[in-house]
Amino acid sequence: MAVIRDIMPAFELYQPATVSDAQKLLDKYGRDAWVMAGGLDSFDWLKDRIKKPRAVVDLSGIAELKGIRATSDGIEIGAMTTLTEVVKNPIVKEKYGLLAQGAELAASPQIRNQGTIGGNVTQDARCWYYRAGWPCYRAGGNICYADTPTGRNREHAILHADRCVAVNPSDSAPALIALDAKFVIRTPQGEHVVDAEDYFVGPDIDITHMSILRPGDLLTAIRIPSNWAGAQFYFEKVRERNVWDFALLNVASAMVVSGARIERIRIAVNGAAARPLRLKKVEEAVRGKPLSAATGEMAGKLAVEGAVPLQFNAYKIPLMRNLVKRAIGGVEAATWAS
Ligand SMILES: Cc1cc2nc3c(=O)[nH]c(=O)nc-3n(C[C@H](O)[C@H](O)[C@H](O)COP(=O)(O)OP(=O)(O)OC[C@H]3O[C@@H](n4cnc5c(N)ncnc54)[C@H](O)[C@@H]3O)c2cc1C
Ligand code: SF4
Repeated sequence: MAVIRDIMPAFELYQPATVSDAQKLLDKYGRDAWVMAGGLDSFDWLKDRIKKPRAVVDLSGIAELKGIRATSDGIEIGAMTTLTEVVKNPIVKEKYGLLAQGAELAASPQIRNQGTIGGNVTQDARCWYYRAGWPCYRAGGNICYADTPTGRNREHAILHADRCVAVNPSDSAPALIALDAKFVIRTPQGEHVVDAEDYFVGPDIDITHMSILRPGDLLTAIRIPSNWAGAQFYFEKVRERNVWDFALLNVASAMVVSGARIERIRIAVNGAAARPLRLKKVEEAVRGKPLSAATGEMAGKLAVEGAVPLQFNAYKIPLMRNLVKRAIGGVEAATWAS
């Protein structure tokens, strides 16, 4: 018999107008509070009755969290800025096109109109079992249902798994890492700023969270410094359905090329692990090398070193190798099954 699960449990809804009021509410309710941005991930959890917070703190009325501003060294994007606003912003398009490309490939136009950049980088894993409320490691239990001989793990991790093999689903995250973005976090102790790559955590550090945020914390803004403005960018996302779907894998790179050699580069992938991965070894190996198919080939091989496939996701190893190869060597015609 069908189970109807579309009635949300009651909660107290708060719609503060300032960050400091939001923080007071988060402080008051602690672990019983839920931060709501665009609501696209939030409503899944609430309507499925898997998360049952006492209080929901809706950030949509906080003007200071919205919009994109030029700063003395780049831009600052408020956490509540929608993905559509990010994609359409003239400065983002002109100087930080990598982020526009990643954000534009996320979900569908309707979802991008409502989903925020803060929510996109903070969204939870899409593993089927976890989303359906199964009591797995990530949900606080002591088993992984996906990492079994018959588990549905086609979308899951090939790198850095530790009990949980779920992956991070964000398309904007690798672009932000490649652009050397900084995430501004307001905690009860004050504000601190972390490198984009340090915002995300794997299951070896914390198996029940995908970011460093703790109850009471708010992501308020994302800053992109000017040092990669106008660089040579590459973003590619591979998904099951091209109309709209989560990434099986994506890659983002920012490169400065001088005399046909790679002078500076940052490259990151997502969909391979529980956190977006900056490929530092690849960056080091290709720095100073010619921008060529051979360099791309070498980078691709290095990127997948140590990858361990599950029962149904071995395809991700050649796929990631070829995405990295194309991101560096620009070999559009490379076949990802080779
Ligand atoms: C059907 C569907 C398809 C999708 N496809 C893609 C895709 O292909 N690629 C992709 O990248 N994304 C995809 N998404 C995700 C989507 O783009 C949104 O980014 C995402 O759902 C969350 O954004 P939101 O603003 O709705 O945040 P919410 O759902 O409200 O919040 C998400 C999480 O982040 C927390 N949070 C949000 N903002 C803050 C903040 N400022 N401070 C602290 N915590 C915060 C919330 O508490 C919650 O846990 C898809 C979503 C759906 C529903
Ligand atoms: S992969 Fe992670 S989220 Fe999915 S069932 Fe296993 S422990 Fe849970």
